[in-house]
Amino acid sequence: MKQEAKINYMALCDAEIKKLKNEEQIPSLVLHSCCAPCSSYCIEYLSRYFRITVFYYNPNIYPDSEYYHRAKEQQEFIRDFPTANPVDFIEGTYDKDRFYHEARGLNDEPERGRRCEKCFRLRLGATADMARERGADYFATTLTISPMKDAALLNRIGREEGERAGVRWLPSDFKKRNGYLRSTEISREYGMYRQDYCGCVFSYNERHGKKTQALNDLTQEDR
Ligand code: SF4
Repeated sequence: MKQEAKINYMALCDAEIKKLKNEEQIPSLVLHSCCAPCSSYCIEYLSRYFRITVFYYNPNIYPDSEYYHRAKEQQEFIRDFPTANPVDFIEGTYDKDRFYHEARGLNDEPERGRRCEKCFRLRLGATADMARERGADYFATTLTISPMKDAALLNRIGREEGERAGVRWLPSDFKKRNGYLRSTEISREYGMYRQDYCGCVFSYNERHGKKTQALNDLTQEDR
């Protein structure tokens, strides 16, 4: 793990992009996105080199209203933001039970703990499958723009899921080179809503100082 942390994933991303410049066709990329603000800089940067399909697959998000709000904002941002190459949008299934199944027994894990690893694998695995299904050249995630997320872990999971699905993983660490700062600028410019918690009920309650019930006790409505 220590060794992974030393890798400059944004330099790897640039090196991969450099190789593409000799190709005549613009490659396709399925970009997993957690929300419009995080996607903003990633789309600005990557759309110069790729035809992007933004894949909004986030069954972790709680409550439902938050999920739908983020999905709507994502679509509006794609519609309004000028890009060098076309950007499409696909919404995945909001299969919350899958997330709760993965998170079982991990209620009390802090953010960046084992529950997050499961959450990343669920979302990146689905993105790799979507990329394969669409015959995309690459897949990637906006999650590496967050200073709260472990870029080394995300890149390891992305690489492993890419190998499993047979699709190339585009490494990244979008927070580097002021990427995170740029995402806050774009968000302000487009009047976007920026949530104050990561996404799941556990992070929501942690942020708001509440205790989460055992998963078995969560009603369908709570979910
Ligand atoms: S804190 Fe964020 S990354 Fe971790 S499990 Fe919750 S939604 Fe997923």
